[in-house]
Order: sequence, then C-alpha cells, then structure tokens
Amino acid sequence: MVKHSNIKVATADLESLYRIFTVAEAPDSTLGQIEREISENLAGFLNERIVARAVSLADIERDFSCSGMPEKPTFVSEHTQFLLDKLVANSVHTAAPSFIGHMTSALPYFMLPLSKIMIALNQNLVKIETSKAFTPLERQVLGMMHNLVFEQNDDFYQTYMHSESDSLGAFCSGGTLANITALWVARNNLLKADDQFKGVNRAGLFPALTHYGYNGLAVLVSERGHYSLAKAADVLGIGRDNLIAIHVNGEHKVLVDEMRQAANELEKQNIKVMAIVGIAGTTETGNVDPLNELADLAQSLNCHFHVDAAWGGATLFSKKHKALLKGIERADSVTIDAHKQMYVPMGSGLVLFKRPELASEIEQHAEYVLRKGSKDLGSHTLEGSRPGMAMLVYSALKVLGRQGYELLINRSLKQAQYFADLINQQSDFELVSKPELCILTYRYVPKAIQTLLASADETLQAVINEKLDDLTRFIQKCQREAGKSFVSRTRLSSQVYSNQTITVFRVVLANPLTTEKILQDVLAEQAKLAQLSQFALPELAQLLKERQVNHYQ
Ligand SMILES: *Cc1c(COP(=O)(O)O)cnc(C)c1O
Repeated sequence: MVKHSNIKVATADLESLYRIFTVAEAPDSTLGQIEREISENLAGFLNERIVARAVSLADIERDFSCSGMPEKPTFVSEHTQFLLDKLVANSVHTAAPSFIGHMTSALPYFMLPLSKIMIALNQNLVKIETSKAFTPLERQVLGMMHNLVFEQNDDFYQTYMHSESDSLGAFCSGGTLANITALWVARNNLLKADDQFKGVNRAGLFPALTHYGYNGLAVLVSERGHYSLAKAADVLGIGRDNLIAIHVNGEHKVLVDEMRQAANELEKQNIKVMAIVGIAGTTETGNVDPLNELADLAQSLNCHFHVDAAWGGATLFSKKHKALLKGIERADSVTIDAHKQMYVPMGSGLVLFKRPELASEIEQHAEYVLRKGSKDLGSHTLEGSRPGMAMLVYSALKVLGRQGYELLINRSLKQAQYFADLINQQSDFELVSKPELCILTYRYVPKAIQTLLASADETLQAVINEKLDDLTRFIQKCQREAGKSFVSRTRLSSQVYSNQTITVFRVVLANPLTTEKILQDVLAEQAKLAQLSQFALPELAQLLKERQVNHYQ
C-alpha cells in the first residue's frame, strides 16, 4: 500500500529524504492535483496550463538565470508550483490541433499511464540483467518493424529475432542516432578486418584508408537531406564536406543522374562512396526520393544504401499509400522515428538492418556486461543505458494495429491534399510544394504580385521574392507570438523562380485532431496578419505601382 502524506523534504535530514523514496504526495497536494488533472482531462490540462501569450525568450531566461546550486531542499509542492508557473505555462502546446508546424503532435491517452509504468520499473535496456523481459520485447518490436519494411518470411524472423550474434536493428533516442548508427555500420563493413588488417573499428580511420588504398570516403544525399547526416559524417571521421549534397528536381526528389555523375567524379579521385542515402519523406517538403533507382545506383557502386525514413516510414502501414516508398525494401538500412508518425512520446527512433549480420561490425563487448554470446542489446547500440521505450512502441503497435495506423496515415495524407486545394483556391496564397505525404509549403503572395512575378525577369523576381521573404517571416512570427496557431517556416530553392531561395510556411498535417475548419482559420489569420506588416506589404504595393506606371509609359 502506498502511503500518502505531505512530504517535508525542505529540511536536509535523512529521515525526510527516505520518505521521498517511499511515500507519494497526498492526493490534495499540488502534485497530487496535477496528477489527477492529467489523468482525468489531459486536453484540459494542456489547454489551461500552457498559456498562449507572447512572452519573449529573454523574459523566460530570467526565470532560469540563477546558476547557484540549490543549497537547501525544497518542498515538492512548492517546486511543482514553480514548474507550473514558469515552465509548463511557457512551454509549447505541441498537441494543439492548430499547431501544424511541427512533426510532434498529440499522443494517444494510454501513453501517459503506460509511461508511468515504464518510469516506475526503470529498466535499463543496455543489458538483460537490468531489463529481462524488456529485451525480448524490444527485439520483437525490431522484428515487427523489420517485417513492415523488408517482409522476410517466418523462418527468417524465427532465426534472427532473438539471435545473440545478429541484430535486426537498433533502438535509439531518435532519427539522428539511427542515421549515425546506420552510417557507422556502413563504414565498418566497408573497412572491415581481413588477413592483413584489424578493421577500422580497431585500427582507426587513417590506417583503414591506407590499407584499402582510398584517399577518403564520401556519402551522397539530396540537398534536402537532414542535418543529422552531417553530424554522422562528422563523428564518423568522414568529414562534413564529404557529405555531398545532390540537387533535387521540381518535386524535391534527388536527381539520380547527378548523383551517379558525382559518384563517378569521386571515384576518379579515389574517394570511395561509402553510402548513398535516399530520403523517404524529406523533413522540409515530405517528398520521397526514387528509391528503386537509388538502390540500382548503390548496387552498381557497390556501396551501402541507407534510407532515411525517419518521417515517412510509417506510410508503410497504409496499404493504400505504401507504394510511395517502393524500393525501400532494397535498402541495407532504414531509419524510422516512432516519435513522429507513430505517435509515441519523444525519444524513440530505430534503425533496421536488412541483413542481420551487418550489425556485427559495430558489436562491442565488455567484461562485466555485454559478454560475448549474451543477448544484451547494448552490444549493438551506440547508446549505453537506455529506457524501455520499446514498451511504448509495442503498445502503440498493439493498440492501434496496422489497420489503425493505416487510418491515421490515410487521414493525414487526405488532409494535406485538402489543405493544398484550399491554398490553391485562395487568390492571395501560393502553394510552393505539393504534398506527397502530409507535409506541404506555401506562402502569402497577393494576387497582383503573383501576376507581376509571373511576367517578371529574374532580377525583378529576386527583388520581389526578397520582400515576400520579409512578409512570410513577419506573418509567421506574429502568428507564433499570438499563440493561437503555429506553422513553421523554412527556406527552399524554387525551380519556378530560377532556383532562387525563398522563405515559405511549412505545414505538417499529422495531428488527427486537426479539422478543416482549423486549416481555414490558419489561412484567414495569416491573410489578416499580412495587412499589419508595416514594411513588406507597403513596399510590394509601391513596387507594383511603379511597374504599372512603367507599363503604361
Ligand atoms: C526528424 C528527422 C530526422 C532526425 O530525427 P530526430 O528524431 O530529430 O533525431 C532525420 N531525418 C529525417 C528525414 C527526419 O524527418
């Protein structure tokens, strides 16, 4: 039985410290009330406790400006109140259906109580000694996700899912770690041990390159590639400059011919293409690279083929749309983030290896844990101690099922199409990238300016686009500060405007609670905010006036 009491830890004596390990706060304490609020009415908690108002980051920083180590203990309730006032109130309502600029959305309610179980058990997945059943569970989840991507037969999964010497993938905290792990595997397999050489994992990069006779290594990816790949190139010793960005076509898909040419150029300089990366759902525009063609290219280059499906991987749950990712099953490794379109809390990503033996090149052993022949998951993960997030992924897979995910994915894609149509119908908006999955970009461009842009030469387009960039930034900032709704913004090179880089609104439509009405309101709010702009809009009007005068002269 849990005893409740108002815990007095505000004095530093051991008796009261023991209590914070053994008893819970009384139900009528601040923390007790908050716990009830969250479990009874999560939406209400978030709507009320996160305050939608314009607070500058500088103001918030003042609440977190003291660097002194707290000397004396604080009462839990007092502390909770501080958190509510200063932290929770000024956090971001990522679950709000009108916050359509992030890849982070609402969570299914069961994630909260289940997370509590997870924290209560406090398992460490690095080794079986501290996780027991959690280890087979995580391996099963990796098996299920492997199955989703690679669709091997039953025998395959019976052989490899729980095998101590192989690994179908690795759980990690997110897409960044997953991408680093994938390229780590690629590097170590390329530069592995042979009769005369210990392998890059033991000897290091320089002796490895010398042994294999390469002047360097390179990784090729589209210019829309996620910046985590640059981090990977950095930590793996390949160098950021050797992550080669390849141009995209008008649909934001990588130009495979250009990638092939770049690869040939590199090989002429004796720089080995270690891996090519295809993106299944770019972070900015949600487009999918031609994965089959990339698989062919990887084959002809004899290099590792990684698919970054951190965002788009969940599309595979949808029978209706999974063909958008065809070719993904030919990848050597695939990144999928469960904390994106799988609606699992932040901090859960995974990388899958098509061939289970691939991971053996990153295997690590230690004497006190991860002994050879053990099934400890830590022998194939970059991270060490890790929480039991697999339990939450497993629960989402079971509770929603493939069919449930399919409904959610189909809904997101349909809603993105609806929003694109809506933008196209508005005379003062311009759709910049059409949604292939559920991400699109657009901007506010008054109709008369659109007409002018269409007939303008490159120089005039650049002048106009610069002012439109100011306007887009202005609208996005005002909307964010007003706090009712949120879209993000990014910069993209636009083929319509001779590859000029333009600032655009970016929208991610993955929150199942976002309605068509909300989307209409977002556009209406933006059109209204545009009128408040004191510089960009008047300058555009002036430009228009000058051009029209010229026109009649
Ligand atoms: C989000 C994302 C990542 C990075 O994932 P994190 O979970 O943020 O580390 C990598 N690639 C793509 C395509 C992404 O969308």
